[in-house]
Amino acid sequence: MAIDVNTSLLKRDRAHIWHPYSAMNSDQPLYPVVSAEGVRLKLEDGRELVDGMSSWWCAIHGYNHPVMNQALGSQLADMAHVMFGGLTHLPAVALAEKLVALTPEPLETVFFSDSGSVAVEVAMKMAIQYWHASGQTRKQHFLTIRGGYHGDTFGAMSVCDPVTGMHSLFSEVLTQQFFVDTPPCRFGDPCADTDIGPLLQQLEKQGDRIAAIILEPIVQGAGGMRFYSADYLRKVRILCDRFNVLLIHDEIATGFGRTGKLFACEHAGVTADIMCVGKALTGGYLSLAATLTTADISDTISNGDPGLFMHGPTFMANPLACAAGLASIDLLTNSPWQKRIADIEQALVAGLQPCSDFAWVSDVRVLGAIGVVELVKPVDMRSVQPQFVAAGVWVRPFGKLVYLMPPYITGALDLQQLTTAVVEVVNGCGQQ
Ligand SMILES: *Cc1c(COP(=O)(O)O)cnc(C)c1O
Repeated sequence: MAIDVNTSLLKRDRAHIWHPYSAMNSDQPLYPVVSAEGVRLKLEDGRELVDGMSSWWCAIHGYNHPVMNQALGSQLADMAHVMFGGLTHLPAVALAEKLVALTPEPLETVFFSDSGSVAVEVAMKMAIQYWHASGQTRKQHFLTIRGGYHGDTFGAMSVCDPVTGMHSLFSEVLTQQFFVDTPPCRFGDPCADTDIGPLLQQLEKQGDRIAAIILEPIVQGAGGMRFYSADYLRKVRILCDRFNVLLIHDEIATGFGRTGKLFACEHAGVTADIMCVGKALTGGYLSLAATLTTADISDTISNGDPGLFMHGPTFMANPLACAAGLASIDLLTNSPWQKRIADIEQALVAGLQPCSDFAWVSDVRVLGAIGVVELVKPVDMRSVQPQFVAAGVWVRPFGKLVYLMPPYITGALDLQQLTTAVVEVVNGCGQQ
């Protein structure tokens, strides 16, 4: 088919392109964006939207940041990419050192990959290879909590929530893992013995087949935006040690300050044996993720059979992405990020509060720079999405959840515009 560049971008898009979790020929709203600066996205029609999503947890410093741009320009002048087999470079080495320094001890070694899903695959392989090298070849399964999200590749999918992750659709391909219910104890609450009981029972029954427990610490993101008890997370660590099961923390969404701590596991003061980071790692500039582990696990894998870790992405440790990671982490750690997150938290609590009076809202919760309004029924995106755009904000609900996770640099007035829009649109949901 001939391409007519005068045809609207939307038509051309709809003819050929899939969007995340969407259908071709969809009549869902779609907006061409031409540029972004600070906390604003500029649409093709000239409208500017205050960003409430940080492009899915990533753009923590906002868009088109001069320091980030400079760092990338400078790296681009040296090299955009080289293979990582048999070669190394300063951006990768410096970023690995920085990640090891930033994350809790005893995480020591770093495996770079190009997306969060792959970082999770790598973490799962590490756990299996560790036990294989230790002579425990039966430990090839994973235990996790319902309501989780760990990515879209098959290994990662197998530990996503079985219902929202549509496990039935892929039942012949997905490995059967072990699940317990989402922790019933909310963030700030203690964890009773009955709350952790199901996990204990699974470990008693299946511990010799389980390589690791994998979970998102404190905040379950795309699986339902739930915040659970730090005490629960502490108890999981204790049980992992008791039953000889590794612990994998997926901090891909929570990492780099979003929950008010640099990493969410710090709310509980516990460290995983393997930890995944991604998303905000490059401040939203490029796709990069990392899987960190302890020297003990790395040594055991490296000294065991086959003596190699079996993974190696083509774009592993891409220099441009690593340079973005370095610049983004420096920007973050040199900024008053704790105060910024605390201010955002306050603004979200105050601004979203009116939603708790609506009968069609089941819960309003805020943690750090994450504000969630959970409705009783799923929202109708066809009507809700244009309402947010008309209100001058970029907010993208999913299912029953209308949520905000703005860039950390968002000022008071922009936060107010975001929360006011959420209250108005959610108010309108009651009339449907
Ligand atoms: C987004 C996400 C992933 C997957 O990352 P991708 O870069 O989309 O592959 C994995 N785990 C968590 C917790 C996430 O939020």
